[in-house]
Amino acid sequence: MQIVSSLSDLRTARLSLEGKVGLVPTMGYLHEGHLSLVRQAKAENQHVIVTIFVNPTQFGPSEDLSKYPRDLERDLNLLRPLGVDVVWTPTAEIMYPPSYQTWVEVEALTKGLEGAMRPGHFKGVTTVVAKLFNATQPTKAYFGQKDAQQAAVIRRMVLDLNFPLEMVVCPTMREADGLAMSSRNKYLNEAERKAAPVLFRALSAAKEAYEAGERQVAALREKMMSMLTAEPLAQVQYVAFTDFDTLEEVELIQGKLLISLAVFFGKTRLIDNIVLG
Ligand code: AMP
Repeated sequence: MQIVSSLSDLRTARLSLEGKVGLVPTMGYLHEGHLSLVRQAKAENQHVIVTIFVNPTQFGPSEDLSKYPRDLERDLNLLRPLGVDVVWTPTAEIMYPPSYQTWVEVEALTKGLEGAMRPGHFKGVTTVVAKLFNATQPTKAYFGQKDAQQAAVIRRMVLDLNFPLEMVVCPTMREADGLAMSSRNKYLNEAERKAAPVLFRALSAAKEAYEAGERQVAALREKMMSMLTAEPLAQVQYVAFTDFDTLEEVELIQGKLLISLAVFFGKTRLIDNIVLG
């Protein structure tokens, strides 16, 4: 496993890879969710590149950039047994050299959900992912359904900018009690960690009602909100019912639906989602 940081070392490493290359972009502090992406990339390509970069431009001024968990040695030890070829760990100075002024923005898809709560977040995401694509030239790029809007936005960018690669979106990996794996789960104290599976229970209750024939969003919302508000440690920021493709809010469920939510446990903000239909 080659571990490279500079752009020139990355280019040399990339040139040595022949055949299909799978890319897994991450911010590190890896967990089983990230590793599932790496395993799928390994199964579908001759080579795998993993990037580890806590991208400053996707964090808002009051967000957790400086506190974001980092442990490169631990991450490398998790990646070694998976047969990863190259790990690229660029610095912020490499990705954003002095006088940097070029940005990639996806318009309508970034207006709602996470985009509404985190202004500028997706501008940072699409810009860095475009740069990672340019530098690593992957055949396929792997993302998690855990970040549903991110996957939709990057899919749009790939189409709009003609990136010659295939997007692969992998299912959300969960802890045994249903909590979606996330690097941010580390921030939860014991009581918050015990309370956090309410997110998946609420999403699952909506899925059950949908499968029993309920098609009114108001009814699903009420069911979810009653479960979420019954948990005193959970502070709901939003629960949204949107069309899976356009991410526009719906009232009556007709096609494929994305239910997504953002909930605070203390200072820790967790997101999760489920797809119906
Ligand atoms: P991050 O390091 O949080 O930026 O995540 C890197 C990639 O891993 C993104 O494509 C995420 O959607 C994906 N990911 C994060 N958590 C999970 C999870 N629990 N299951 C599947 N994929 C995940």
